[in-house]
Amino acid sequence: MAERKRRPGKKKEPTKFSRKMKKKLLVMFSCVMVMLFALIGRLTYIEQVKGEEYKKQVLSQQGYESQSIPFQRGEILDSKGTVLASSVDVYNVILDCRLINEETYDLESRKKIKKYVEPTVEALLQCFPDVTEEEVMAALTEKADSRYFVLRKKLHYEEIREFQELESKVDKKGKKVNPNVQGVWFEKEYQREYPYGNLASKVLGFTTSGNEGIGGLEDYYNDVLNGINGRQYGFLNSDNNFEKTIKDPINGRTLILTMDLNIQKIVQERIAEFQEEHRDEEHEGPGSNQTGVIVMNPQNGEILAMSDSLVYDLNNPRDLSLYYTEEEINGFSEQEQLDKLNKIWQNYCITYTYEPGSTTKPFTVATALETGKTREWYDCDGVEKIGGHEIHCVQRSGHGPQTMEESLMNSCNDAMMAMAFEVGKEAFYKYQNIFNFGLRTNIDLPGEARTDTLIYTVDNTNDTSLATNAFGQNFNVTMVQLASAFSSLINGGYYYQPHLVKKIVDDNGNTVQSFDKTVLKQTISRQTSDTIKEYLYKTVSEGTGKSAKVAGYSMGGKTGTAQKGNRDDKKYVVSFIGFAPVENPEVLVYVVIDEANVILEKQSSALATELAKRIFTDLLPYMNIFQDEETEELENPEGTEGIPEGENPEGNEGGNPEGNEGEGTPEGGNPEENGGENTPEGGNSEENGGEGTPGEGPPGQGGEEGGAGQPENPGGDEYPAEGIPEAMPEGGEEAPPEE
Ligand SMILES: [Zn+2]
Repeated sequence: MAERKRRPGKKKEPTKFSRKMKKKLLVMFSCVMVMLFALIGRLTYIEQVKGEEYKKQVLSQQGYESQSIPFQRGEILDSKGTVLASSVDVYNVILDCRLINEETYDLESRKKIKKYVEPTVEALLQCFPDVTEEEVMAALTEKADSRYFVLRKKLHYEEIREFQELESKVDKKGKKVNPNVQGVWFEKEYQREYPYGNLASKVLGFTTSGNEGIGGLEDYYNDVLNGINGRQYGFLNSDNNFEKTIKDPINGRTLILTMDLNIQKIVQERIAEFQEEHRDEEHEGPGSNQTGVIVMNPQNGEILAMSDSLVYDLNNPRDLSLYYTEEEINGFSEQEQLDKLNKIWQNYCITYTYEPGSTTKPFTVATALETGKTREWYDCDGVEKIGGHEIHCVQRSGHGPQTMEESLMNSCNDAMMAMAFEVGKEAFYKYQNIFNFGLRTNIDLPGEARTDTLIYTVDNTNDTSLATNAFGQNFNVTMVQLASAFSSLINGGYYYQPHLVKKIVDDNGNTVQSFDKTVLKQTISRQTSDTIKEYLYKTVSEGTGKSAKVAGYSMGGKTGTAQKGNRDDKKYVVSFIGFAPVENPEVLVYVVIDEANVILEKQSSALATELAKRIFTDLLPYMNIFQDEETEELENPEGTEGIPEGENPEGNEGGNPEGNEGEGTPEGGNPEENGGENTPEGGNSEENGGEGTPGEGPPGQGGEEGGAGQPENPGGDEYPAEGIPEAMPEGGEEAPPEE
């Protein structure tokens, strides 16, 4: 306290600056003022004498100061190197209206005039045929002060070249010929282009501006395809010259696909043909609700082609006019339009789930073979009574005694049910898991449906479900799931991850990453695989798959028919999965036709086998797969077999017409029968409701339709992403694939 009192007495603050210091400060202040005046003087001089020159320089650099330089998004190439998607440079024509409008002092007239307007407008009209004088003048008057007026967007280089040449043209002395053409510059950006329009639209997807992939590979590999923007910095150096430094953009990486452009073309053309052939047949509209096709190499999981019938133009992805009339489109609300577009953009082959039907019978037979629960023959009397339901065979009168081979050839439900029961539910569902049903394949595409809630497990199944599951009903799959699992049946037992990208390369063509075949697991032994192949060969050469046979080629395969939704709706999914050649399969084709637009009596897998045959017919020679069978014999054996089957529902095989083998298909064209007996094959509507059949529908919803019987999370923890080690088939662990 005492100290404090003393301080005020000192009174030293006002004399903080000594006289000497004040003097110094004054001198410094004066110096600064002098310098400031000098600077102002200099600036005034610059403004007055050299103003125009500097101004122009600065203005012409407008838009260059710290400007972002866009990267080029990577391309997508097919397996042979054909460009399917690329980003080409395009240019926006930008007007610097303020610069064009600038008034300069004219020595001759001694007036300020706008000397840039006329020559610039003239040059624009000359070089851009669709630009009108009115619009340029409107821009120059209405947006007179704008530095950034977009006159045209996304012109290709050829379209702007003439103007660039005119603007930069110099005479012999190096002087600009058109110095008064000013204030027009070109802003470069990239535009995604798809040279083949709708080709592989479901697989490729598209991008929005800003390089954001929507659907397909554009989406799944968005980060790989995108690069990093560069930047351009402008500054004035010590000599007052404008300089710029450029940080180059890093361009995106390119995808090289397993897909083959020509195979994809074949598939899309054949699907389109089917859709047209059956247009307006049963009701107004295309040949089916959806038709999906997957072509893959069963020896490595490479997808060679994939499409459905709702393709769209990748260069104009929001165009609904392909599928709707103008009137219809105008009637849609915004939400409706979006829903329609989403349906079109979705890839049926991976997002849609359905009951596969008889194409899964080879899996049941394989399970029986693997577990050793086989019999020499099974007795088919046409019906089995299980869980209080009568479940019919495809042939109601019964097939009689059936060997394992015959049970596949004739698609016998009775035999399948017997096999499943002898195998037992534990082993049956263990093998469903081994075949990856209920699990995603993790194909490199977005939107693969989950099916874990759409299959039964050993804990929630019952006799009826086991019986119907044995022939492919009451559980759901996606196309890619079935095709991948089926590949393992015919390639020696190796489950390869299906994939579309073979390689990722950088800007200079160097490989960054390559995707060789990935074995996820061994499903069955080679011995079982060979046996199944033989059975499937017989199924195509003599059994229900005959109408898929291409003369001269050894082929194997299996048909399928299943009902969808409510059993009373009489809606069908018909299918065929086939491969060639049998000895060492090189190609697998899976065709699924969802609600073919044909009358009830014609709803059969013959539609799918016929479509598959057409695809195989084009495909096999293209792939250089050699004929390995005598054609003569095949074309006319005993008069009947060479005729294109499938067209003929009456068939020639003792009352079991091809294609009409499908369970769920009204036999003999008498749909009433089903209703009357209340025993639709495999599962009537009561069954579904009561037992909680896994419903079908979009991912995430399927389970809900299943009803009370289906547990909320029957998949969940029990399903590891990969095969359970102890669930490996005998011999599975010791046999790494040789190839
Ligand atoms: Zn039978």
